[in-house]
Amino acid sequence: MKVDECTQLEMWDLQKLAIPPRSRLYHLEPIGVGTPDTESLSSYLSRLAQEHCVTSQKLIRGEIAPRMMGQNYESPLIKKHVSTLFSNSDAKPAINGMRAKTKSLVEALEQLTQRPDLSFLSLLTWKGVIKERGLFRQYRAWCPQCNQQWRQESKVIYEPLLWSFKEVDVCLHHHCLLVDECPHCSSRLPVIANSLQLGFCSRCKGWLGSAQGESPVLKTDELEWNKYQIGSIGDLIAVAPQLGYQPKLETLTKKLQLILFGFERAFRQDLTRFIKLGKIMEQLKIGLGQHYNKPFHLIQLVIPVCYQADISLAQLFLEDFNSLGEILLSNFQVNYRLT
Ligand SMILES: [Zn+2]
Ligand SMILES: [Zn+2]
Repeated sequence: MKVDECTQLEMWDLQKLAIPPRSRLYHLEPIGVGTPDTESLSSYLSRLAQEHCVTSQKLIRGEIAPRMMGQNYESPLIKKHVSTLFSNSDAKPAINGMRAKTKSLVEALEQLTQRPDLSFLSLLTWKGVIKERGLFRQYRAWCPQCNQQWRQESKVIYEPLLWSFKEVDVCLHHHCLLVDECPHCSSRLPVIANSLQLGFCSRCKGWLGSAQGESPVLKTDELEWNKYQIGSIGDLIAVAPQLGYQPKLETLTKKLQLILFGFERAFRQDLTRFIKLGKIMEQLKIGLGQHYNKPFHLIQLVIPVCYQADISLAQLFLEDFNSLGEILLSNFQVNYRLT
C-alpha cells in the first residue's frame, strides 16, 4: 500500500451500553397472570426453588429470609421448618392472601427476580376491599386430572391460586372434585414445605395426579350456582392486573348501593316472586350499614349480590359507575321487568 493512500477505518462507538439490572435469581415468569388460572405465590416459590435445583428450605433460608427479616433470620425455628417464617407452623394458605407477611414475601421475591407482577399471585390487590377471614383453605388442594394432564402434555406442573380458596371444591376444566388429602399417605399437606416438588406429596413423595377424578354430587341449580361462584373467584384473580390501580372500598360501596337501589325498585313491584332477592337485599343492607368502612365478605355478600343482579365480578370491578348503571338497568328490565 502506498503511504499517501487513505484508509477507511471502522468507527467504534465507545459509549457505555445501558445494561438493565441483573436479577439475583432467575427472572422466572409466573403462570397465567391475568387469567383465572393464575399461579399462586406459594407455587411460584416452590417452582423457583425447583428451577434453581435447590429445596424450598435452602432458597428461603439463603435468599428470602434475610430479605424478609434482616439480621434475625437465623432463628432456630426457621432452621427446622421454614414455614414458620410465614407466621404459622403450617404456612397456611393465607400466605397467598393479603397479610403483611404476604406483602414482604412478594417484595423479597420481586427484588430477587426483578419481576414486577408477583403481587397478582396473591390477593394483595384486594386488601381493605375484600374480607380475608375464612376465605382460604388450611392445606393444599389440587385437581388430580389437571396434574395428570400437565404431566402427559409435558407442561409445567403448578398450583393455581384458585385452589387455595375454601369455596373452590371443583375443577371447572375437568368437573371433578379437588383433593386435599394425599391418596398414598392420607396426609394433609402444608402449602410451603422444606422440600416440595409440585404435583407430589411433600411427605411420602407420591404422585398427586390421576386420569380420573371424583364427580361432585350436586343438583342442577346447585351446580349452576357452584360454577358461578368459582367463576367469580376466578374473575377476582384475573381482573387484578387489568385494573392498573389499587381498588378502593369507597368505590365498591357506591356500586353496591347502586345495585341495592335497583333491587329495592324490583322488590317493590312483587314481594312474593323474589324471596331469594329479599334475603340478599337484607344482607346487602346490613353489609352497607353495619360494616360500612370495613371490607366486604366475598362469598356471603359480593358474589351472591352479583348473581342476583346478573352481572359478573369482572363487570362489577372493571366497569365505571355510569356503564355499570346502564348494564344493571338493562338486566333489571329483563329479569325483574322493571320499567
Ligand atoms: Zn382439573
Ligand atoms: Zn403422601
